[in-house]
Amino acid sequence: MATLAENEKQLRSTLRRIKKEGVVKNFINGKLVGAASRKTFENTSPVDGKKIADVVSSDHRDIDKAAKAAAKAFKTWSKVDPKERKAILYRIAENIEKYAKEIGPLESYDSGQPIRFTKKAGALRGPANFRYFADRILDAANGLSTPDKHHMNFSMRQPIGPVGIITPWNAPFMLSTWKIAPALAAGCTIVHKPAEDSPMTAMILAKAAHEAGLPDGVWNVVHGMGHSAGKALTEHEDIKAIAFVGETTTGSHIMRQGAATLKRVHFELGGKNPVIVFDDADLDRALDAVIFMKYSLNGQRCTSSSRLILHEKVYNKFVKKLKERVAKIKVGNPLDPKTEVGPLIHRGHQEKVLSYVKVAEDDGANILVGGKAVGGKLSAGCYVKPTLVEGVTEKMRIGQEEVFGPFLSVMKFKTEAQAIKIANSVKYGLTAYIWSKDGEKAHRVARDVEAGMVWINSQNVRHLSQPFGGVKQSGIGRDGGDYSFDFYMETKNICVAYGTHEIPKLGAS
Ligand code: NAD
Repeated sequence: MATLAENEKQLRSTLRRIKKEGVVKNFINGKLVGAASRKTFENTSPVDGKKIADVVSSDHRDIDKAAKAAAKAFKTWSKVDPKERKAILYRIAENIEKYAKEIGPLESYDSGQPIRFTKKAGALRGPANFRYFADRILDAANGLSTPDKHHMNFSMRQPIGPVGIITPWNAPFMLSTWKIAPALAAGCTIVHKPAEDSPMTAMILAKAAHEAGLPDGVWNVVHGMGHSAGKALTEHEDIKAIAFVGETTTGSHIMRQGAATLKRVHFELGGKNPVIVFDDADLDRALDAVIFMKYSLNGQRCTSSSRLILHEKVYNKFVKKLKERVAKIKVGNPLDPKTEVGPLIHRGHQEKVLSYVKVAEDDGANILVGGKAVGGKLSAGCYVKPTLVEGVTEKMRIGQEEVFGPFLSVMKFKTEAQAIKIANSVKYGLTAYIWSKDGEKAHRVARDVEAGMVWINSQNVRHLSQPFGGVKQSGIGRDGGDYSFDFYMETKNICVAYGTHEIPKLGAS
């Protein structure tokens, strides 16, 4: 792992290149272009508040250009021999690896995520997403075949058309590859609208794809605000589907915006995920997983376990250890490989997260650790001390609302039924984590807990072929393996007669 000094050196060189290039432009039909409005917005770093770059602020006119380019390119890209598509996706993966050195530090500086995670997103997970879906291209169009006496029915899948991909700021690079790779593999063309708070690495990704030989217009990037560029993308009639990752309220806006053009939508939204620790669990492993699943990625992780539901018999012992460990989490410059928690995405979000300290205290919960901004040398950044709150109940706001920061709420339970009731008491249902050595009990709870994904005796470890997504207000649809192709493709049934079936004769007698 590169040192802080090496990462900073790499970042300085990338920032010099970005400055030389001037304003960060849109990428439409294979070319870097300005926005119709000629307006820009300033993108700043959560690390030190300094400007990273001016970025074009696009509106419906730019989206229209990009959507038309994607619609034109769809006519040919959707017909490209799957073997050729596969080869291009493999080359994109290789190019991401080529740029990985640049991606990690830039993403850390742009999003505040520690380099230990952003390095993996650029060097490992991004290319893995492309290779995984490339390997499945040959079978993506495959369907069912159901022969009967007089007919042969078979189905095939075909790409749905140009799609819009709207991503959030918490893990911008990895989430973009996760959405874009299956769309391209399916034969769709894309218009990507990256989050305005972390737009930088989207351009390296598009460059990596372009250099891999992707035809012009297949991959377009349009920068701007959600209420203008994002909204226009969801309303454009050439765009057949929207894959969206972000907040639950934004998801419902998108559903309304896309209603007139009957958009197919795929939503990965918010969460308030429970981790239930029973008294018979391996408490040391559970402790490591609880801490990792809340404080990694600065707590800005949709799958994070933000509610620890602890059995009363182990409550005091577990909380004591938790308190010691949370107080020792290393907060600092995200470019430092030793840093475990970096700054939150922007000042407004830092203030929102800290506002939950008062909310928790007013409701009668106790702040055991943290609950403050980090001062001193780090005060120019948007840092929040890893925070631990205990004495939380499901009636409290802190037990219900997504804080999306390094903020863990501890709740107590006595019986299995009570643990399930607390777990299911929120409007969300993305993930759940269960810790117990009693297999039958763990399976019962996994069955009854309202979540799209459940891990037993584990933190979130992703298998790309398994369905990823939430229930309740955490999302609509599933990603991963064939589930992704189901979203990006239409299934067509074709029925062929053997020539032996009866045809009713009207007007014949
Ligand atoms: P956000 O909803 O504010 O923004 C996400 C994207 O939507 C941005 O690109 C934004 O510009 C765009 N947008 C905003 N308003 C829009 C509109 N009216 N029309 C079209 N686009 C619009 O989310 P965020 O604050 O960037 O991200 C944090 C949220 O994302 C959290 O709630 C988190 O739980 C969620 N998230 C969920 C998953 C998951 O897999 N379920 C993964 C990561 C993040």
